[in-house]
Amino acid sequence: ALTIGIVGLPNVGKSTLFNALTRQTILAANYPFATIEPNVGIVNLPDERLDKLAEIFSSQKIIPATVSFVDIAGIVKGASEGEGLGNQFLANIREAHAIAQVVRVFEDENVVHVDGKVDPASDRETINTELILADMQTLENAIPKLEKQVKGRKAEQSTLDAYLGAQKVLEDGRTVFSASDSLDMEQLAQLNLLTAKPQIYVFNADEGVLGSAEKQAELAELVAPAQAVFLDAKMESELVELSEEEAREMLELNGLEESGLDQLARVGFETLGLQTYLTAGPKEARAWTINQGDTAPEAAGVIHTDFQKGFIKAEIVSYDDLVAAGSMAEVKSAGKVRMEGKDYVMKDGDVVEFRSGL
Ligand code: GDP
Repeated sequence: ALTIGIVGLPNVGKSTLFNALTRQTILAANYPFATIEPNVGIVNLPDERLDKLAEIFSSQKIIPATVSFVDIAGIVKGASEGEGLGNQFLANIREAHAIAQVVRVFEDENVVHVDGKVDPASDRETINTELILADMQTLENAIPKLEKQVKGRKAEQSTLDAYLGAQKVLEDGRTVFSASDSLDMEQLAQLNLLTAKPQIYVFNADEGVLGSAEKQAELAELVAPAQAVFLDAKMESELVELSEEEAREMLELNGLEESGLDQLARVGFETLGLQTYLTAGPKEARAWTINQGDTAPEAAGVIHTDFQKGFIKAEIVSYDDLVAAGSMAEVKSAGKVRMEGKDYVMKDGDVVEFRSGL
């Protein structure tokens, strides 16, 4: 499943945020998977279209798309050289598709900052330096082995060139992701480099920042082109304890449109280049996660691999057309339901029924 690893310096609010994540996981009634790992929090991708579809099809259940977050033991200066904690940290983080870096911007005299003061630019630098050092270590181990293999004609020179290119980027103090345009990312994929993963910055803020578009713009600029999410981890942990109605009131009271967890799920989706398509019937209205640019058979494969193998065609209507018509029968008679073949590229919000030959 799609996972985002949470990293950050100690005392920035990771545990607080993660508790909110796991609490909401337990509360999510329609959770479609059987077991939940203790260090995984799952967030529903909010999607109002599903409510509307459930209404039109009288669906019994709504199953939204989800994003999983994995808690990764705190990183400290020197973690990349360290034994134990450092290594465990690196092992966990390698499996994540993206990294969410929690950065403290809240002021609180009672909460000690590891470096003595709240300084988001310097904190980010510390974490990213550790990630870069860890990747340099990986390459230092991999390159001599690969050189031997190239000499013995057991590996390609182009792979070695890619490794050396990545090493150069890291030596310049840059992340591999930031240089992905000029590096052969396919050749590098097997290394699972930490800085090759896209990052999201989660600024753990107080009212001072949450209420100031100007301060947020400054912080967003600090991390651009990576995306920034602004939330108050303490408030998030309170929000998940409230009813939907109460939570909405609390957000409004604070001048916020959506919870930080919702924001995080949404930005996670965007960062990973994902989108959803929809299915609906009397049993359930459901969102399915696919990559932007996936074809109809690839989308069918997310439901079941047999659907992809036996794909014949897909009956597709756009969500907007369906809602405007009010029912499947109406939208069909209006001629707005299309039959698409195997080359069709899926669009966000397609409402789909697959025809399979199996
Ligand atoms: P971690 O070490 O990164 O996991 O940080 P914790 O989640 O344990 O938080 C460290 C301390 O900061 C705890 O005492 C939290 O209650 C406090 N804390 C976390 N988030 C916030 C916040 O948004 N505002 C304030 N004022 N305190 C927070």
